[in-house]
Amino acid sequence: MKRLLALFMALTLLLASACGGDNGQDDRTDPAQPTAQEPAAPPADPVEPAEPEPEPEPEPEPVVQEPYSIYDPTVMPEGGVRDGVTYAAYDGLVEHLFFHPIIAYPELAFDGDAQEKGLDDFMVTVDEFNKILESCLANDYVLVDIADVWSEVTGDDGQPKMVRNTLYLPEGKKPLILSYDDTNYYPYMLENGLTYKLIIGEDGKVWSWGLDPDGNEVVSRDLDAIPALDKFVEEHPEFSPFGAKACLSLTGYEGILGYRTQTDGSVEWTDELEANRQAEREAVMPIIEELRRTGWTFGSHTWGHIRLGSGNMTKIRNDTEKWFDEVGSLVGETTILFYPHGERPDGGDWKQTGEAFRYLQEKGFRVFCSVGIESFSFIKKDICAVICDRLHPDGTTLRYSRKRYLQFYDAKDIMDPTRPDYGVDWD
Ligand SMILES: [Zn+2]
Repeated sequence: MKRLLALFMALTLLLASACGGDNGQDDRTDPAQPTAQEPAAPPADPVEPAEPEPEPEPEPEPVVQEPYSIYDPTVMPEGGVRDGVTYAAYDGLVEHLFFHPIIAYPELAFDGDAQEKGLDDFMVTVDEFNKILESCLANDYVLVDIADVWSEVTGDDGQPKMVRNTLYLPEGKKPLILSYDDTNYYPYMLENGLTYKLIIGEDGKVWSWGLDPDGNEVVSRDLDAIPALDKFVEEHPEFSPFGAKACLSLTGYEGILGYRTQTDGSVEWTDELEANRQAEREAVMPIIEELRRTGWTFGSHTWGHIRLGSGNMTKIRNDTEKWFDEVGSLVGETTILFYPHGERPDGGDWKQTGEAFRYLQEKGFRVFCSVGIESFSFIKKDICAVICDRLHPDGTTLRYSRKRYLQFYDAKDIMDPTRPDYGVDWD
């Protein structure tokens, strides 16, 4: 950064001297300064100064990105061995855990305000998150991308259908899908001890930006579940033999990844608001690109976090189009849909295929994820789609579902002592 600054200063000086004086320099140092305060043109200079030349963009310092490899788990490595590790076919259950954004500052989350209970119920703290990853690693889980678990093929009847892929995993390992819901950085989260947005750090990696309880800016890779997983995989590459990270489940109504890329129908939409929105869209692109490059994928959580079981088709159609316009246009195509509130459309998607499900499938979604008490999945017979449930490490299951999660971790070892005293049931 210092080097960049030095280069910028040198260019500024060079330009100032080339322009021959104060005028250009003033413009440059304070763009907000009203023109009335500019010194009167020196009488000796009869020539109207031309429009100030646009400042030459200083060459950005090239960031050398560490190479990142992504492998297809549905293909056996040649000779059955990669990097000295033997691979074996796996057709068993694929576990799926999902997280909400994690709590960076428990003292802000658990401060007795109206949000405390919800944060305790649905989120984990940074310490809990790291311990959960450690424990999943120790229990022989390895990350796979949800999009690699099932594929669309043409059936004997000529119709498309979904099939479960054989996965080729390091011998003795079990596959684990991770997804993160609502990685939008909603305003209410910012006041309650979560990070504010993702940024690209000087090393080219994804970092979080936020404020600590004293209001100081903090740029970190330890306080947010996205850079924290990146870091964990750097330290334990065996946890992600294919380079997979998590699938980010995005709504659109507050923008994505901390950038306010959304429209807002409740206010008069001005050119200024639109210009700001476009600037935010531009700003988030390098983050999306870096996430994609390093194994993260994206899914829809609907634009407005709407209830898909409502039966309101007009609302579902409008919302879906809005998601494609405002989110899909940034993150690219996806076949993954995460139900808001875990609510299945049409009164139960695994029993019936109703109008809402059919519509969403027509729009390109193939894997429909709810929330449940096990990593259940079911390939539908009447339509090309898979439905699956996800487990949810959070306050409710840490307190009340210890046994169900023992295959991943023991809540007794995980639960953060900074949580409020709502009791536990660990029998
Ligand atoms: Zn949600």
